[in-house]
Amino acid sequence: MVSRVIPVDPFDLVIFGGTGDLARRKILPSLYRRLASGQMPDGAHIIGAARSGLTDDEYRDFVRESVTDQVPADQYDAALLDRFLGLVRYIPLDAIGTEGWADLAGALRADMVQAFYFSVGPALFGPLAERLHDHGIARPETRIVVEKPFGHDLESARALNAVLAAAFHEHQIYRIDHYLGKETVQNLMAVRFANVLFEPLWNAQYVDHVQITVAESLGVEGRGAYYDRAGAMRDMVQNHMMQLLCLIAMEPPSHFEPDAVRDEKLKVIRALDPVGPEDIVRGQYRAGPGVPGYVDVVGTPGSDTESFIALKVHVSNWRWAGTPFYLRTGKRLRTRVSEIAVTFKDPPHSIFGHETRRRGNVLAIRLQPDEGMVMRVTIKEPGPGGMRLVEVPLDMSFAEALGEDGRNFPDAYERLIMDVIRGDQTLFMRGDEVEAAWAWTDPVIAGWQARGARAMPYDPGSSGPDDALMLMHRDGRRWREIEG
Ligand code: NAP
Repeated sequence: MVSRVIPVDPFDLVIFGGTGDLARRKILPSLYRRLASGQMPDGAHIIGAARSGLTDDEYRDFVRESVTDQVPADQYDAALLDRFLGLVRYIPLDAIGTEGWADLAGALRADMVQAFYFSVGPALFGPLAERLHDHGIARPETRIVVEKPFGHDLESARALNAVLAAAFHEHQIYRIDHYLGKETVQNLMAVRFANVLFEPLWNAQYVDHVQITVAESLGVEGRGAYYDRAGAMRDMVQNHMMQLLCLIAMEPPSHFEPDAVRDEKLKVIRALDPVGPEDIVRGQYRAGPGVPGYVDVVGTPGSDTESFIALKVHVSNWRWAGTPFYLRTGKRLRTRVSEIAVTFKDPPHSIFGHETRRRGNVLAIRLQPDEGMVMRVTIKEPGPGGMRLVEVPLDMSFAEALGEDGRNFPDAYERLIMDVIRGDQTLFMRGDEVEAAWAWTDPVIAGWQARGARAMPYDPGSSGPDDALMLMHRDGRRWREIEG
């Protein structure tokens, strides 16, 4: 199968924070790959901007290193990299000062799509928006891309939305959540809404429960200071996991258009019940053989920040009443895996007597590693030994089904940056969605703080604290294994 690459219009993309970690690891290599694919035209200009006083050539050296480090050898092409570097330049600029802004204004081309990627700490979002406005750089078609974290709580998210709204309209603001750029996440919408097979069963009558797991094998690594203020609830649940939950639970939008999709996601967030203490398990990894514990890494003795959280969540509407959604995420777990598993109910009556092990069908949607979907179905065990039943996977691994195309999915950042250039906000969060997510998150956090409930220790390389297992066991259910 050959995928169609439709080139975008020429553009000016300014990366504020162009010398930072995100630019180096994600944004710049993604742009290189889009040039390689033919989607990014040679008329594109990429302008790195940060305070460091680099020349264009010094910045190109930084970009060269970023691409050679991050792009696998089989995708690397020296001539292509030179072509890419020809599109790149650098402007020293201070987000909270006056330096560089006139240069930036002079470097932009009037008749081009213009996008500004705010790849800087959130404290600079406001100053950048103001200066783009005050220096007359922002135009009605200008797009800005803002990174996570979008706020620390409802109040700060509202303040951030207000600061951006003072300079830009909502249709100009692209709040990025890279989970939404994953191929499988979009495929989830295709599977649900482009087939008749699943949608009639996609409700509390047929779905027993949904599990969403985002497990990481690494610890907090170099992000300790930020992470210790955030914790798993703010860092993962409020944004990424909430978005996945929305895509599973939302009603079919009337069209695959930004506001139609985001309206439906918003309704899901607003339908979430508050979560009681019995439905939350928080954990923090301790030290293991050769692995420092969480508090040693963040350097805050006595920290109660959770590096793991499991929640049982209810979506209070007609479709989902009575079907729990179990969410689980954590660091230093057994392996790195992100998946959504929709477990269907048992057939209402078994005609196979006691031979039948009654286990519902499961549709497992794997986001990483190896994006794909697996449907567990029950069939007859082959052979003459009578009617014995076995469960087998119907594997829809995209790498196999789609050949080369399945192996070379664009990285989430590639897709999302190109969506910005195309002016498509479907896979970006709207301001009211983010606020609604915080409005649900804040009382959950305030609840455990008020109760003084502490995070439970768990071993590195495990599945999290035992109490997380109990969260499902007491409902007669069990988590899927965390396995790669
Ligand atoms: P970083 O490595 O600390 O880079 C920050 C960048 O901002 C640098 O280029 C820095 O360059 C520039 N900068 C700082 N102060 C500035 C100012 N006053 N004016 C202009 N430029 C300024 O941070 P990062 O990891 O790239 O993260 C950037 C954003 O992405 C953050 O909001 C972060 O939360 C988010 N994010 C990052 C990741 C990731 O994997 N790194 C993942 C998700 C979200 P100078 O010091 O030269 O000015």
